[in-house]
Amino acid sequence: MENEGAENPGRRLADGLRRGLRGLMAAAVDAVYPPVCAGCGRMTGQHRGVCPACWSTLRLIERPYCEVLGLPFSHDLGAGILSADAIANPPVFERLRSVAIHDGIAKSLVHGLKYRDRTDLAVMMAKWMIRASDGHVRACDAVVPVPLHAFRLWNRKFNQSAELARVIARMSARPYLPSALIRIKRTARQVGLGASQRQDNVRGAFQVTEAGKAALFGKRIVLVDDVYTTGATVSAATRALKKAGAADVTVLTFARAMSGLI
Ligand SMILES: [Zn+2]
Repeated sequence: MENEGAENPGRRLADGLRRGLRGLMAAAVDAVYPPVCAGCGRMTGQHRGVCPACWSTLRLIERPYCEVLGLPFSHDLGAGILSADAIANPPVFERLRSVAIHDGIAKSLVHGLKYRDRTDLAVMMAKWMIRASDGHVRACDAVVPVPLHAFRLWNRKFNQSAELARVIARMSARPYLPSALIRIKRTARQVGLGASQRQDNVRGAFQVTEAGKAALFGKRIVLVDDVYTTGATVSAATRALKKAGAADVTVLTFARAMSGLI
């Protein structure tokens, strides 16, 4: 048997080099992203993305909640209870899970990731998303981001949903499928549109590629987006995944808009 113990001098040297390299990497990251809180802009002194004071204002979504829509209940009605909305209007996806209400610091984090090029936030946000998924990331066969249209991606050069999905997949050692689902329609921005306009806007906007079909058929998928608002986008994306044969879709977002919460 090979000696993999700490006494092995070669191993010790390799570990030392690795540690040194990690220090250098951290210094490089510091130079690119000064450790500033994404909420209040104060120096945090370390790469947490957000200071403890801002973090404490995060309105986490926790049980008791509707098992399908992940809507928090004001009191505990017992395990497995569904909200009236989930019964009256069952969604196309199996379940929705989000970390926090899209407000205050959660909004700042989403905005920071999307517009301020703070990819350092993705690691922290992804950790919380894995926790909020309640074991569904661990149990899934693949992690898929809500894609941007190629033109918008070219314009912005960055898809925040893909950034989150990539980190979630890496941290959980699940397969990451960034190009199985594509956006074939250049849609207007959803911001400022009402619920039915949003639905019309994204209808038929997504398609699974031929390679994607083989990868998704019969599989349990975690579909990642940054914010859940009316659900029009993730519902259209889920329809495309289901059409391609996906067996089970968990929608996982960092934030969730207030509307519709009980
Ligand atoms: Zn702060």
